[in-house]
Amino acid sequence: MADQPYWNPVLETLEPERIRQLQLKKFKRIFNWAFEKSKFHRSLYDKAGIKPEDIRSFDDIRRVPKVEKSMMRDIQRKAPFPYGDALCVPLEEVTEFRQTSGTTGQPVYQPDTWQDWEWWAECWAYILWAQGYRPRDRVFIPFGYNIFVAFWAGHYAAEKIGCEVIPGGVLDTKARILKIQELEATAMMATPTYVLGMAETARKMDLNPAKMTIAKITCAGECGACIPSTKQRIETSWGARVYDHAGATEIGAWSYECTAQPGGLHVNEALFLVEIEDIQTGEIITEPGRRGKMIITAFDRQAQPCIRFDSKDVIEWAEDPCPCGRSFRIIKGGVVGRADDITKVKGVLLAPSAIEEVVRGMDGLSDEYEVIVDKVGDVDQIKLRVEVMPGAQDQCQLIEGELNNQLRLKTNLRYDIEICGCDTLPRYEVKAKRFKDLRKGKKQN
Ligand SMILES: [Zn+2]
Repeated sequence: MADQPYWNPVLETLEPERIRQLQLKKFKRIFNWAFEKSKFHRSLYDKAGIKPEDIRSFDDIRRVPKVEKSMMRDIQRKAPFPYGDALCVPLEEVTEFRQTSGTTGQPVYQPDTWQDWEWWAECWAYILWAQGYRPRDRVFIPFGYNIFVAFWAGHYAAEKIGCEVIPGGVLDTKARILKIQELEATAMMATPTYVLGMAETARKMDLNPAKMTIAKITCAGECGACIPSTKQRIETSWGARVYDHAGATEIGAWSYECTAQPGGLHVNEALFLVEIEDIQTGEIITEPGRRGKMIITAFDRQAQPCIRFDSKDVIEWAEDPCPCGRSFRIIKGGVVGRADDITKVKGVLLAPSAIEEVVRGMDGLSDEYEVIVDKVGDVDQIKLRVEVMPGAQDQCQLIEGELNNQLRLKTNLRYDIEICGCDTLPRYEVKAKRFKDLRKGKKQN
């Protein structure tokens, strides 16, 4: 088993035509389940005039109403406590409680049954196996085990595939680094922000993370690991291969990068249906190269189903199949942003990830940066704060000029650049808040 490249050799190499057949069949099954078991879904589908027997093709699937996060939030405020009437199983079958981080409003609760939890571990088993995790690995998880799902499922999946797992729970960053060193851990999972922060802390402890035993790192929770310059920074810092993965509390772990590092993520098409919708027209995009927002269905999650969930993640299909041999399609560059985060500045659409790509690709700068968009009078202004590394202070002018050129090329906008000393910008433990739009809440003209 350890020699084989795929976690599920049958499903991961199924011909595209057969994957589509499987997806249609599984969509009907979960649709029927929600239609029968959840008052919320039944009333949604009744209003749209759609019944299980109406679903015969992918065109029919596109008629199924989408579900937005705000709808889940509303329903959970109503009886029965605490999940409202979207729960498809008796309350006593719920074994897991998690919630969304609430960065975009009131958190949404996520109940799972034991079977759902097994499914979570199965989703992650695909990810870890594709990234080269094998039973001989010793996996360190520097994660504050808490109310968020994040690396809980990664933990169980690592156990499921036979790795040895070290829960780095409440240890602080220094203690975690020492534990990795002491136990010669070979892999770890964390957000890109935290992995970079750990490397910085290690260097301050006079340790070289690149000389430590970590050989692979699985990132999740932020875009970073699919942004080439950020990925390269992490790989160089740790002397390790870095792989991205995208998932969400209310969806599941739906995608993964493989060891071929194809510049994108495989969608786990055996467990999920990913549709890409044009943000302006609502049309479904099936061809490569056009960005839209993701509408996603989890086929096998039962307690609180995820059917045509409007995730707001911005993605696009890649052109070529992956050299790893998996037939699961790839989304190019991973999740490139959120439909909510893409903002108009001076009439130009700006994705924060484009700024990160430029800053992290620049020599002489630290990993931290901060972007502040504000309105001065009637004019939008963007301030970019970066930190210069010790030893590069005499190159500030050069760096500033190069930053301006690159940013104008990538984003078509001008920036007011401030070069700060090292260690002056805020550090983040888990997810970073580097992009601030101060225009929100101000009167917009
Ligand atoms: Zn691949």
